[in-house]
Amino acid sequence: MEGDRVAKAVDGVDFHIDRGETLALVGESGSGKSITSLSVMRLIPQPPGKILEGSIKLDGKELLTLSDSEMRKVRGNDMGMIFQEPMTSLNPVFTIGNQIAETLMKHKKMTKKQAYKKAVELLRVVGFARAEDIVNEYPHQLSGGMRQRAMIAIAMSCDPKLLIADEPTTALDVTIQAQILDLMVEMKEKFDSSILLITHDLGVVAEVADRVMVMYGGQIVEEARADELFTDPQHPYTRGLMGSIPNIDADVERLESIRGSVPPAHRFPQGCRFAPRCDHAMDICRESNPELLETKAKHKVRCYLYEPLSGEGGQGNGTTR
Ligand code: SF4
Ligand code: MG
Repeated sequence: MEGDRVAKAVDGVDFHIDRGETLALVGESGSGKSITSLSVMRLIPQPPGKILEGSIKLDGKELLTLSDSEMRKVRGNDMGMIFQEPMTSLNPVFTIGNQIAETLMKHKKMTKKQAYKKAVELLRVVGFARAEDIVNEYPHQLSGGMRQRAMIAIAMSCDPKLLIADEPTTALDVTIQAQILDLMVEMKEKFDSSILLITHDLGVVAEVADRVMVMYGGQIVEEARADELFTDPQHPYTRGLMGSIPNIDADVERLESIRGSVPPAHRFPQGCRFAPRCDHAMDICRESNPELLETKAKHKVRCYLYEPLSGEGGQGNGTTR
């Protein structure tokens, strides 16, 4: 059952992240965004969870075709992860310093002494004034925000090309959220890396993302630069998400928050996966699933309401895909 779910949960994921870029993957829970991040790390059990088509490029390098051992190297050296609840990813029985040093000894082949010295440095970089003390403390001795800072120090310890942050601020209160987001961006710049930010929170996206992919039902339904997405959201799902956040640009038409919820992967409808929740659904929407097409420069949408930018006519021809 679980395997089946994973197998069908994401479909033709196709994306690239450029150096220095912050790409946000947005959607409600169940939309497939966490699974997509796992497929970036190639952590989805294969088979049956293999992504059969699609492409995931990090800084120009295709990840889906790497061998397992090459991928292990990429994971250890080029990717760092931050999760929603650092308590579950920090080991409660080891000190913070121990956990940073462990990574450095394993991936950077440092001696214990070098690794501890570097751990203190990293803790200072992520904003701990008394880094020498923190290095000897245990996760439970720190507040939620401090634990997230420590997680960021661990994630940065390998000097990663990509920082994957899965709902990094969801468990934190608002002031701390802003500090952690600022810190992530600062670290991205300092370490010349990129960020894949997974979130359901468009406020967070507005704060830090350069480019946004909106996911629904395991598929990308809209992709655009962040400023473009906020000024001209097109997919009814995206517009619904925008309607559920306060203080967004007043020009954006406010919709009622979206009724219903994301169907489980084994019960996606035949046509457009959003059709059961969409106020604009037409007959064709229930028959076939639209493709993700460019409808404006660098703005792609998966919806029959929009005409593709150029060539090949519309997609409202009823062909089943
Ligand atoms: Fe709504 Fe149809 Fe567009 Fe799907 S394709 S989002 S059902 S209008
Ligand atoms: Mg998730």
